[in-house]
Amino acid sequence: MDRFLFKFACFDCRVSFKKAATNNIEQYNAHLPEAELSHNCMNCGNKMAFMGRQFQPPPKSDLSGWKSAQLLWEHGFRFVGNGFHSSPALPKKKADTLTFISENTEHNQKVSFSVDWEAYKTTT
Ligand SMILES: [Zn+2]
Repeated sequence: MDRFLFKFACFDCRVSFKKAATNNIEQYNAHLPEAELSHNCMNCGNKMAFMGRQFQPPPKSDLSGWKSAQLLWEHGFRFVGNGFHSSPALPKKKADTLTFISENTEHNQKVSFSVDWEAYKTTT
């Protein structure tokens, strides 16, 4: 059943888990922009961010990579789709990310709303 799991992440603990995102079989596709189900971090217990099917978590030691992923997520980017589109690849370094976000307001992978992680993670 691995193909029906999606990536969720905790930016504070820098961990990612594969979890079910929906109970609706019609929505089991790689383009799902938001999860219907929520999951809490197994480390800290806070709510995890829904990253999408294609998220590749950086190594735990890659602070820049995790900050980049957090900024992208906060600005509505999700790791969705099959990788075949004309939009540029998402950045992997914090230093590149804010510029990327401001220059790619119509990006193919910007599929959700802007969210503040600090507020989001404590919602239930
Ligand atoms: Zn956590």
